[in-house]
Amino acid sequence: MSLVVQKFGGTSVGDADRIRAVADHVARTRRAGTDVVVVVSAMGKTTDQLVRLAADVSSVRPDREIDMLLSSGERITMSLLCMALAELGVDAMSFTGSQAGMITDTVHTRAKILEVKADRLRAALDAGAVPVVAGFQGVSTDREVTTLGRGGSDTTAVALAAALGADACEIYTDVSGVFTTDPRIVPEARKLARVSYEEMQEMAATGGRVLALRSVEFARNHNVPLHVRSSFTWEPGTWVDKEDPTMEQAVVTAVTHDLSEAKVTVTGVPDRPGLAAKLFRGLADRNVNVDMIVQNVSIHGTTDISFTIPEADLAVSTEVCQGLLPLLEATGVISDDDVARVSLIGVGMKTHPGVTALTFETLADAGINIEMISTSSIRISCLIRAGQAEDAVRALHAAFELA
Ligand code: ADP
Ligand code: ASP
Ligand code: MG
Repeated sequence: MSLVVQKFGGTSVGDADRIRAVADHVARTRRAGTDVVVVVSAMGKTTDQLVRLAADVSSVRPDREIDMLLSSGERITMSLLCMALAELGVDAMSFTGSQAGMITDTVHTRAKILEVKADRLRAALDAGAVPVVAGFQGVSTDREVTTLGRGGSDTTAVALAAALGADACEIYTDVSGVFTTDPRIVPEARKLARVSYEEMQEMAATGGRVLALRSVEFARNHNVPLHVRSSFTWEPGTWVDKEDPTMEQAVVTAVTHDLSEAKVTVTGVPDRPGLAAKLFRGLADRNVNVDMIVQNVSIHGTTDISFTIPEADLAVSTEVCQGLLPLLEATGVISDDDVARVSLIGVGMKTHPGVTALTFETLADAGINIEMISTSSIRISCLIRAGQAEDAVRALHAAFELA
């Protein structure tokens, strides 16, 4: 018998009617002769509400307690869905992340999955039941409840699909697939029939939040085919799988944007070997993930070094730079969180020159100043003012004729 993992995101299970609609779909899949393991997110905006509630209650929020709190959202959905399935005559059984055998490291709020001990799920399947697993959570090697970072239910689903050897992992959401850009910003964005793991990974890493980055990395490493599709229309969506070398590659596949970046500039750094090394070692030692880096041409023997980091790491990055000022003999630190990164992604860039030129011309014509640039073989990213991000996405989407 074939096996699929079906993951339902927050909007897909947002209220009682939605949970019943999902139960109906799971029941149909079973009746068609396919075994199903279900992974659910918290209902609607529950996780956001819990985050706000914690902030209202206290300014001291230990990560362990945040994980206890946030993991409760998915538990609500899993038990309600099992009840809805029971009413349809489908034998179903809910499992927390811990019960489902999702073993993680000990890093609260962004734990990594180390191992999946899926024997309880296998036993449930063998007994003819549908296991319904709470997404986004696991249990650490210290036996503490952990969560996998926002959007982490996608990762739960892919990890289970890999561990159980499922034929596919279906990610049901509120759009009908992966589009050339966020369809909420550009309504004429086009649904892609398929995307390679490599491109999807770049999209997820640069703000295309339809799939969590870790889930795509996991799928790529374990060769799990992903099918991103709508839980409202149930129509076929987008397949994310291995690149097909026989297919003609689009030069640009998608445009993404990310408002969660921040920029830090260290001014007046003497132009001597070893100082950049000290700066970035200091950041690395505090687990800060640096993305773009620009070092200006030195004037009178000093230079400015600018770099981008996730906005969430801005405070710690500024603190590290301030602390290093005497050692670097630099003059100051400027931090700026009013920036956005827009990115163009496409496997075809490897072989087509001219993408960079058209990107810069398009942004220039739209009156958008580029502050920093970074590239990989299949991506170009530009750092711009946050307020111009949506205009930049629209202009680039049109210039590369993605509609
Ligand atoms: P879920 O709760 O189902 O996990 P998410 O909100 O995490 O859903 O992801 C779906 C959302 O991703 C869509 O509503 C859409 O606005 C956004 N999105 C961003 N970029 C894209 C893209 N390129 N294609 C499709 N959706 C995208
Ligand atoms: N409920 C979690 C979140 O909102 C996990 C998820 O939905 O994937 O981030
Ligand atoms: Mg999501």
